[in-house]
Amino acid sequence: MRNITLAQGEYLKAGQLPRQGVLPAKVVTAAAGIVEEVRERGDAALRDFCLKFDGVEMDDFRVDPSAMDAAIDRVDLEFVEAVKKAAAQIRDFHEREVRQSWITTRPDGTILGQKVTPLSAAGVYVPGGRAQYPSTVLMDVIPAKVAGVEKIVMVTPPQKEGGISPYTLAAAKVAGVDEIYAVGGAQAIAAVAYGTESIPKVDKIVGPGNAFVAAAKRIVSGDVGIDMVAGPSEVCVLADDSANPVVVAADLMAQAEHDPLAACYLVTSSAELAQAVQEKLPAMVAASPRAEITAASLDNEGVVIVAPTLDQAIEAVNVIAPEHLELHCDDAMSLLGRIKNAGAIFIGHWSSEPLGDYVAGPNHTLPTGGTAVFSNPLGVDDFVKHSSIINYTKEGLEIDGPAVQVMAQAEGLWAHALSVGVRRKMLADGEEAL
Ligand code: NAD
Repeated sequence: MRNITLAQGEYLKAGQLPRQGVLPAKVVTAAAGIVEEVRERGDAALRDFCLKFDGVEMDDFRVDPSAMDAAIDRVDLEFVEAVKKAAAQIRDFHEREVRQSWITTRPDGTILGQKVTPLSAAGVYVPGGRAQYPSTVLMDVIPAKVAGVEKIVMVTPPQKEGGISPYTLAAAKVAGVDEIYAVGGAQAIAAVAYGTESIPKVDKIVGPGNAFVAAAKRIVSGDVGIDMVAGPSEVCVLADDSANPVVVAADLMAQAEHDPLAACYLVTSSAELAQAVQEKLPAMVAASPRAEITAASLDNEGVVIVAPTLDQAIEAVNVIAPEHLELHCDDAMSLLGRIKNAGAIFIGHWSSEPLGDYVAGPNHTLPTGGTAVFSNPLGVDDFVKHSSIINYTKEGLEIDGPAVQVMAQAEGLWAHALSVGVRRKMLADGEEAL
């Protein structure tokens, strides 16, 4: 891990972080070509790409919904119980995010408000190249269900024999997916963005994936909504001398094992702790079945920042703006108010980040690459639209109309002034009814 020691009064700068946020140009070009082909040739292009990238000859992409029921019977009961527990807690959390439509009435009788409408169709990308992610199914589908989305379409790469992992299918059943198509990569994103002969177009696409998936989402964004372009996972542990070095090391490894590009930060006011954690790591990493990925991530993307005060350490955390932040500090709850930028904040020594990955309830699809400075975890709001409601009375028109006419004239928009003016004239002439 790279070590940075801040001097008294010195603050971390974003440029000191080894961040690789941009998608490689080669990947973006390849994804653009795939998206274009799918737009032009539909299912025929999908078949070609499935063969080329997944090594599978696909006839029909649609997965029969009965496969979800069959999967529930195939996977262990213990897994189904864990998924159901996670789903219930994720649902309970997201139900608290629901915003109601509202209206307000002014004294002149004018009604103003906001109407909340769920999306008609959402597309959920579930990665499936090198691993299976049933937890992602729950995290991406349940907020859509809670929002009231009418149709949830899941796309995920076919496995070698053409099917989908029973764990992914079982999670899809518990979460309430409506349609599943066995197609992955940039071609799947293009398929749900524009529609093909066999796959329906959706209003918005959510869900993580590899660089081809991320690049394709960025390309189709605007023609269809997207949640975010997610980069590699990150954790930042903020620790004082009350932290346990083995626990801190385990938590850094829990993120590093995702990906050689995953980024792990330890920010601490204790030089002793920084040293103890780095002494523990080599043996703990060596004992992991995922030692290679974990070591690559810690070596290349790991940073230890030692600050002379906890205040300076907190400021460093706000510059990092991590996807996941863990507070391994005495009275950790009291620090919450000073944390400005973080996707999810895990407070205190017992709040292991993987609890949030699977079962706690908050969403695990979080802003990465410093985007927590301006963006949010995936949630119910990602699956609804807000329409403004404006309903004027004659009295309201008389009160606000003159200001509209003045502003419209200043902008040179003659008919804007006329639209209000003809109504005001009618009222002045005693023409009460339209
Ligand atoms: P994936 O489903 O994202 O990608 C697999 C697809 O990529 C294949 O189906 C294939 O069509 C396409 N592909 C592969 N090689 C290609 C090439 N050379 N050119 C064009 N297309 C190609 O699965 P993955 O690759 O295993 O990646 C999953 C990613 O999702 C990982 O980076 C993982 O960390 C991330 N992830 C993130 C979260 C989160 O919440 N942030 C959760 C789960 C997974």
